[in-house]
Amino acid sequence: MIETSIINKIKNIIGNRYISNDPVELYCYSHDYTSRALSWIYDEYQFMADLIIKPRNEIQIKEIVDLANEEYIKLIPRGAGTSFGGQFLPIDGGVVIDFSVMNAILEINPEEHYAVVEPGVLYKDLGHELKKIGRGYWIPCNPGSAEVCTIGGMIANNASGESAIKYGTTRDYLLNLKAVLGTGQKVQFGSLVKKSVSGLDLLSLLVGSEGTLGIITEATLKFKALPETFITVIASFDSKKAAIEMAGKIQEYITPMSLEIADQAVLSGMNLYLSRIYPKLSLKVSTVALFVRLDGDRETTGIHAQKIKELFMNDKNASDVKILTEEEHEYLWKSRDCSGPSLLRLLRPFRNAAPYAPAILDFAVPFSKIFSFFEALSQIMKENNLGYGIVGHLGDGNLHINTTISLKSEADFKKIGDLQKTLIDQTMSLGGTITAEHGCGLWKAPYLPLEHGKEGVELMKKIKQVFDPNNILNPGKMISPSKLGYFPTSSN
Ligand SMILES: Cc1cc2nc3c(=O)[nH]c(=O)nc-3n(C[C@H](O)[C@H](O)[C@H](O)COP(=O)(O)OP(=O)(O)OC[C@H]3O[C@@H](n4cnc5c(N)ncnc54)[C@H](O)[C@@H]3O)c2cc1C
Repeated sequence: MIETSIINKIKNIIGNRYISNDPVELYCYSHDYTSRALSWIYDEYQFMADLIIKPRNEIQIKEIVDLANEEYIKLIPRGAGTSFGGQFLPIDGGVVIDFSVMNAILEINPEEHYAVVEPGVLYKDLGHELKKIGRGYWIPCNPGSAEVCTIGGMIANNASGESAIKYGTTRDYLLNLKAVLGTGQKVQFGSLVKKSVSGLDLLSLLVGSEGTLGIITEATLKFKALPETFITVIASFDSKKAAIEMAGKIQEYITPMSLEIADQAVLSGMNLYLSRIYPKLSLKVSTVALFVRLDGDRETTGIHAQKIKELFMNDKNASDVKILTEEEHEYLWKSRDCSGPSLLRLLRPFRNAAPYAPAILDFAVPFSKIFSFFEALSQIMKENNLGYGIVGHLGDGNLHINTTISLKSEADFKKIGDLQKTLIDQTMSLGGTITAEHGCGLWKAPYLPLEHGKEGVELMKKIKQVFDPNNILNPGKMISPSKLGYFPTSSN
C-alpha cells in the first residue's frame, strides 16, 4: 500500500485526471495472457498494482522516478500489455506507468529515413503514417501483436516476428533513445547516424531490458522503403523432417521474408478462423505446412516464387503446393497471426466449465537441431498427456508451443512449471535459448543462469545495480530482485 501522503505527491506531479486507484482498473492492469498460469507457479505473489499513472512527458517521469527513489516505491512501465511472460505484472505492488498518453509521432524525416516517437505510439499507427510518405516506408520487425503493441514495449522486449529471418529485430531499427534511468538520471544513447563504434553500446543494454534499467521516453527508429509486392507460396508436408529439409534448401537459394511452419493442430485452428473471416481459403490439415513469404520488386519476387514452387513440386513429401493470390495472402497471414488464440479455442474443451490456462512457450534451437527438438517435444507432451500445437519461425529455429492446462487440480497446476523446466532443459541441451522473442518476465527469469551461467547473471546484476541501485524498476522481472529475492522462485 502506498501512503496517502505519497499518493498526493504523485497527484501533484501527474495531475488528478491521469492517476487512478480504482480497484476495477487496478485489477485490469494486473493480468496478462499468461497470468493465470503464472499465479500458480509464483503463488507467493499477488499481481496487484497500488496505482496507475499516465504521464504526459519526460519531466513528469523524471520527477516520479526521483520520488520513487526517495520513498522506495516500485515503478512498473507498461505499453499495450501484450507481453506473454508477466513482464509488466506488479508483484510487489507499486505504480504502473501507462504510456498511452505519450503517443505522439514527433518527427518523420524522409530524407534521413528516421522517425522520432514517444514510447506509447502504436507500431500500427507509425506504420500507417510511414506508408503515406512518397512511395511508402515501413519498419519491418513486426511482432504478431503489431496491431496493438507500442514502440516502447517493442524496444523493451526487443520484439520481432515472422520477418526476423530477413529483417532482424526491433534493435536493428533503433538509432537513438532517451530514457530516465532507475537512478533518476536522464540519458540519451545512440545517435542519428546508421553506423557508430564509439564506446560501449549502451543503447543495446536498454533494448530487451523489460523496463528493469530505465524508462524509455523517446525513440528514434530508422525505416526502409516498402517492397513493391509480397507473394506467399505454401505447401503441406507429410513429414516434419522433410519440411525442415525443405526449409534448409529454400535458405540455400534465398532468404525469404518469412519461413513459417504450422503443425496439424495449428492448421485446424487457422481453418477455424479462416472459416469465419475468409471461407474461400482452407488449408490442408497435414502433418505440417510451410508458408514462405517473399517480398521485393514484382518481377524478381515472381521469379523467386516460381522457384520455391518448383522446389516444393519436386519433393515427394509435399502436396497442395500453391502460390496464393493477393487476397489469399492477406488472409493467410491474418490467420497465422491469430493462430495462437484460434488453437487455444480448439484445445480448450468448449463445454468444460473448468478454468484453463493457456501457456505459450517460446524456444529457439539451432536450425540443425530443430528435428531433434520436435522429437523430444512430442515425447514430453505425450508423457504429460497434453494437447498442443506448434507454430513458429522455422528459418530462425524459433518455435512457439501452445498448450492449455486445466486448473482443476493441484497436480494440473504443478504440470505447468514442471513442463516448462523439462522443455528448457531440452532446449539448453540442444544449444538453444530459453526465449527467442517473448522475453523473460517472470516466466523465464529463474532459468537465466542455465543459459548465461552464474558469471553472466552476476554481471547482469551488477549492471542492474548501476542503472537502478534502489531497485525501484519492475521488480522480479529478468534480473530485477523482488521482495522475495533475486528470482521469483528458489530454483536457482
Ligand atoms: C497475439 C500476440 C502475438 C504476439 N506475437 C509476438 C511476436 O511475434 N514477437 C514478439 O516478439 N512478441 C510477440 N508478442 C508479445 C508482445 O506483444 C510484444 O513483445 C510487444 O512488443 C509488447 O509490446 P507492448 O506495448 O504490449 O508492451 P508491454 O507488454 O506492455 O510491455 C513489455 C515490456 O516493456 C516494458 N515497457 C513498456 N514500455 C516501456 C517504456 N516506455 N520504458 C521502459 N520499459 C517499457 C514493460 O515493463 C514490459 O517489461 C505477442 C503477443 C500477443 C498477445
